[in-house]
Amino acid sequence: MAKIHKLSPTLSNQISAGEVVERPSSVVKELVENSIDAHSRDIDVAVKGSGLDQIKVTDDGIGIEPDDVKTAFMRHATSKIHNRRDLFQVDTLGFRGEALPSIASVADVDLKTSTGGEGTEIRINGGKLIGIQPAEARRGTIITVNDLFFNTPARLKYMKSPATELSRITDVIDRLALGHPKIAFSLIHNHHEMLRTAGRGNLQQVIGSIYGINKVKKMLAVKAHNNDFKLWGYVSLPELTRASRNYITIILNGRYIKNRAIADAVIKGYGSKLMVRRYPIAVINIQMDPILVDPNVHPSKTTVRVSKEPSLCHLITTMIMNRLSHQNLIPNVMHRE
Ligand code: ADP
Ligand code: MG
Repeated sequence: MAKIHKLSPTLSNQISAGEVVERPSSVVKELVENSIDAHSRDIDVAVKGSGLDQIKVTDDGIGIEPDDVKTAFMRHATSKIHNRRDLFQVDTLGFRGEALPSIASVADVDLKTSTGGEGTEIRINGGKLIGIQPAEARRGTIITVNDLFFNTPARLKYMKSPATELSRITDVIDRLALGHPKIAFSLIHNHHEMLRTAGRGNLQQVIGSIYGINKVKKMLAVKAHNNDFKLWGYVSLPELTRASRNYITIILNGRYIKNRAIADAVIKGYGSKLMVRRYPIAVINIQMDPILVDPNVHPSKTTVRVSKEPSLCHLITTMIMNRLSHQNLIPNVMHRE
């Protein structure tokens, strides 16, 4: 008798959820990235119980057509890429079509959406369709994720303290906001406002909302370019430092990424100006031809492969070095994206 069989979609989604939705902050990241890809100008995130009880994301983006709503929850279903060529020039944050089915397989999800006409509401619990019907809705999407990991007890046990999970959520929103100054973000936890950005396209203002307005005064605008890369952002004066390198934010073509070599290049730009085990606050935007970036390294898409990385790192280091050596000569002009 044959022993090999295809897993049910519910089960295979739960397995991939293990990678895509590791913890509440990964759900927040995936949902907010969807809202960004939907050209939203205003994204509100409300969480309860550090995201385990509820995560609700409201956007004013393009919404989903009634006929597409069910498909959006199918594995590898996406509106963002069509062919092989698109995969090598991804200009959206998502493209794998895994987030919605993964999240819906490990939580109770309600999504209400409209493209401007008649809206749709769908509810899926632990991967099972509970109902789908027309609904009153304004243009945009509201997705509510309740009881995350209710059916994966091992995952629940693996959660850190509520404070840690919440700080990861804040971290995700901070970085998405730093990468998208034109979008107004808000984050509310148990009715308490944690963050609000104005969405006026001013990176300096976003830095102020996140790190405090007094810090902005100690940050210098930087920019540089060569044939392959265009860089702009802000770096702290050597006197404004932190005990971890977590305050170095790298944004590549609008996607925040984790890259040790690039963070090291930022630190190297300070030469011997930093005290031991102190690190700057920095926001570095990198714009480059998408063909030179491969974001398809890990489901979370924060690890990317960058061609010509050494040349990029060199450009970052020299940009910061030059700026710090001319600290008092160049006025700290406001930078608009
Ligand atoms: P991906 O983002 O990789 O395409 P997802 O599973 O995250 O995959 O989403 C599936 C599809 O659902 C998206 O391609 C998009 O068409 C649609 N979608 C999801 N969230 C939103 C949203 N907030 N607004 C508009 N469309 C959305
Ligand atoms: Mg997505």
